[in-house]
Amino acid sequence: MENAVRIQTFSIVAGSEACNARCPFCISKMTLPFGVEPKEPDVNWRNFEIACRFAKQNNCTTVMLTGKGEPTIFPEQVTKFLETLRPYEFPFTELQTNGILISEKTDVYSPYLNSWRELGLTTIAVSIVHYEPEKNRQVYLPYKKEYIDLARLITTVRRHGLSVRLTCILSNGFIDSPEKVKRLIQFAREHDAGQLTLTPVNKPDEELSQNKEAWNWTKDHHLSDDQWKEIQTYVHVNGNPLMRLVHGAMVYDVSGQNVCLNNCLSVQADAEDMRNIIFFPNGDVRFYWQYPGAILLQGWPQKKDSKTC
Ligand code: SF4
Repeated sequence: MENAVRIQTFSIVAGSEACNARCPFCISKMTLPFGVEPKEPDVNWRNFEIACRFAKQNNCTTVMLTGKGEPTIFPEQVTKFLETLRPYEFPFTELQTNGILISEKTDVYSPYLNSWRELGLTTIAVSIVHYEPEKNRQVYLPYKKEYIDLARLITTVRRHGLSVRLTCILSNGFIDSPEKVKRLIQFAREHDAGQLTLTPVNKPDEELSQNKEAWNWTKDHHLSDDQWKEIQTYVHVNGNPLMRLVHGAMVYDVSGQNVCLNNCLSVQADAEDMRNIIFFPNGDVRFYWQYPGAILLQGWPQKKDSKTC
């Protein structure tokens, strides 16, 4: 590349497709077999170091450890990623999780939270669809009687000296109106979740049509244009705009609560800045989730796949 670009986020796909949740909109989930300890997937560490250097040289400020499945299923691998990242001194390092293991096995994960904080982790981003436990249970844990205690999870993470972001997927029948957004903002503020991101679930597309369950769910639950506009208007009227992020998302202060209105899959081909680079465990380094052609570096050969959001 001739000119320096500004990379906003360096996303790292940690773990495998294994997940302990069953979100109906997820195309990459893989059921965890009961009683079988899943094998930690191999990582192409050579290409990871190249991706770290590239992100650092292009002024990346934020690293996001995420996954096609749930990254906390492989906590030792999260530790290895953080150890490798540490010399690069990225200011913000975040872990995207459904929070289930941290909540259900706090005794096991508390030492990890401590060591991850020492290794530079700054933020735990918890995926949700609602402030009501039953709504979250329907999406994340339909095979269980109860969802986790979200308020207690936030307290646990905060007590370990880490920031919390609630990342809420907006969908029809869940958070789908200004009134529900207002209550979600109250919930975040009351429970000390410093940041709240609102992202509408993707409309069904060709890719999802390969997974009938995910396609049907998003067809039935994506927000209408009017619903999304009403929510945007509510946040805009009741909040103070603070910052427009590189990819067009807007950050507001709404009654003292940080709220980010996000649109997950926007493509800005003419932008000079690169929104994201994404490292995959096989060593592929890409710059859009949804386009196989957006590749910077090829790793070990692998089967083709992509992530919902
Ligand atoms: S969306 Fe995330 S939490 Fe839900 S099943 Fe997929 S990987 Fe798991």
